[in-house]
Amino acid sequence: TPDVRPLVAGNWKMNGTRDALGEIKAMAEGVVGPLADRVDALICPPVTLLYVATALCTDSPLMIGAQDCHQKVSGAHTGDISAEMIADCFGTHVILGHSERRTDHAETDHLVRDKAVAAYQADLTAIICIGETAGERDSYQTLDVLKRQLDGSIPDGATAENTVIAYEPVWAIGSGLTPTNEDIAVAHAFMRSELTKRFGEEGKKMRILYGGSVKPGNAEVLMGIANVDGALIGGASLKAADFLAIYSVY
Ligand code: PEP
Repeated sequence: TPDVRPLVAGNWKMNGTRDALGEIKAMAEGVVGPLADRVDALICPPVTLLYVATALCTDSPLMIGAQDCHQKVSGAHTGDISAEMIADCFGTHVILGHSERRTDHAETDHLVRDKAVAAYQADLTAIICIGETAGERDSYQTLDVLKRQLDGSIPDGATAENTVIAYEPVWAIGSGLTPTNEDIAVAHAFMRSELTKRFGEEGKKMRILYGGSVKPGNAEVLMGIANVDGALIGGASLKAADFLAIYSVY
């Protein structure tokens, strides 16, 4: 999208112990130079590595985020992490409503929206994930599902600054499969039009990432599709070499 700064974001999921910190260090050292003036880079490691990861990035434009937060500010929620805790570790972003959380933890659009509001209150940028399942795609419901998830998961207070949308077809995550370029173009154009209808100028500028089996080998083509403003990368974000190769297609 013209005038929109792309974002290349990595989601480590439940992978990575302290010995993986060298990868974050290498990424922090790799995302410097002229590219860093035009393209944002973000890694979301497990929350156990958050604080030390941000400490490795103090001299780097590489940003660090989390993969989930609770919808409440604090309280009796054993095992959960608040948005404020992420910000306190110098995290800047939080992934919300990833399909694995929607499936494993029965997260609904309504809950994802509440979590995004909590993220805004802590000055975090929410990366709100949406996407259809294989069955929904096969029965031609993709755009209906995207509309329902956009309407239900994004708070009214969303801006191009505090919100990023990640379109991740569930069947493309971790499978090595991707939609056709044409299907991605149609989905992203649809999301752009929905966001613009609801949020006006902010909707025009809001970043819409593509996620699902993005690799160094397909990133250039995927990132070149209209209304694709960056990537959310799972498996290929674990190694600095792969992540930096994808970042470097810009
Ligand atoms: C993800 O889980 O956000 C993702 C896109 O995973 P992968 O790149 O491994 O398909």
